[in-house]
Amino acid sequence: GAWIGIVGGGQLGRMSAVAAARLGYKVHILSDSTPSPASETSAKLTVGSYDDLTCLEGFARSCDVITFEFENISAAGLKHLAQFCPVHPSGHILETSQDRIAEKTMLQSHGLPVAPWREITGPEGLKDLPSFGFPCILKTTRFGYDGKGQFRLADEAAFQDILTKADQLPYPLVAEQQINFAREISVMVVRGTDGTVRCFDVAENHHRDGILRVSIAPALVMPDLAERAQALATQLAEKLELVGIMGVELFEEQNGQLLVNEIAPRPHNSGHWTMNACLVDQFEMHIRAVTGLPLPPARRHSDAYMHNLIGPDDMALLPEILREENASVHLYGKEEARPGRKMGHVNRIFPRGGMPGSMVLTHYKPALD
Ligand code: ATP
Ligand code: MG
Ligand code: MG
Repeated sequence: GAWIGIVGGGQLGRMSAVAAARLGYKVHILSDSTPSPASETSAKLTVGSYDDLTCLEGFARSCDVITFEFENISAAGLKHLAQFCPVHPSGHILETSQDRIAEKTMLQSHGLPVAPWREITGPEGLKDLPSFGFPCILKTTRFGYDGKGQFRLADEAAFQDILTKADQLPYPLVAEQQINFAREISVMVVRGTDGTVRCFDVAENHHRDGILRVSIAPALVMPDLAERAQALATQLAEKLELVGIMGVELFEEQNGQLLVNEIAPRPHNSGHWTMNACLVDQFEMHIRAVTGLPLPPARRHSDAYMHNLIGPDDMALLPEILREENASVHLYGKEEARPGRKMGHVNRIFPRGGMPGSMVLTHYKPALD
């Protein structure tokens, strides 16, 4: 079989590798650390720096196509890989998603709405933040994940507090208006080499401490809102000439307007529910897309409630969860259950239409708060 190279050794690489193996491909993982979740599920492993050009060349020469489970490889590294092997999604999309300023600018250039934002280049700009308004969120421009590198400024007092540390902040920063959203939702959109676009059903997402905790599919939204979200994701996939899968994170405002929070051109945690609620899940769709295989409709046969297993507290619940009759457990093979670390997830699956919102609210929602 052909070789698929995956840059990154995390759980997204692990689950992509399993999907690739199912389709008869061999997987070569490039990871900067070992052991990693993906090293256990791949045929070949290279451990090296994502910036080491010799290492990247050796990796790329051994692959027939390369993809990513991880977005933070340098632009130079990307260009180097692409000299020796096709790379999907393209380096251009990856570079845009690495940088919140480039990302927001791109979204706005395509007419897509984002939360009001402002670039803050240094301490002087920070001093001027009251003219932008509160509450707002300061975010690092690059390398943020799971809400890391974010400071919430509720009011003038919180702002005065951060001003005392103005010289130590990692500029440039992005200030975003804190949106009092009705809901957070996301769409997984996939586009093939022939231009076929498929969207999975919209998921509703709940975060705790900046980390995704629960995704519910389908999202309990008005049908027209789900359609608008999918149309927006489709438009974006086409404009970007995406090849592969991409997560589009959205806020639904109180008035029903949609804002794009960010994009992730790779499989996404809020798409893990597809592993048990769809015949072809997000990982298989991604592998099919980057290898030029046909993309079937992203059909959902069941309702799903995905719950991340985060840190030691959630892992302690595992014996109970394993007793449940409609729970499918996916573990990432990480040894140490540190607080805040994603160790796995559980998909609770119900017949289509069998997961009323009231059940979610009464049975599971309290566990979120
Ligand atoms: P990840 O890449 O893991 O999704 P991240 O570190 O890139 O996370 P964001 O997605 O920007 O961070 O933010 C994390 C969460 O914080 C969001 O899912 C949302 O719940 C909240 N959040 C972010 N920006 C805003 C905003 N402008 N208004 C309200 N809430 C926000
Ligand atoms: Mg992000
Ligand atoms: Mg996010």
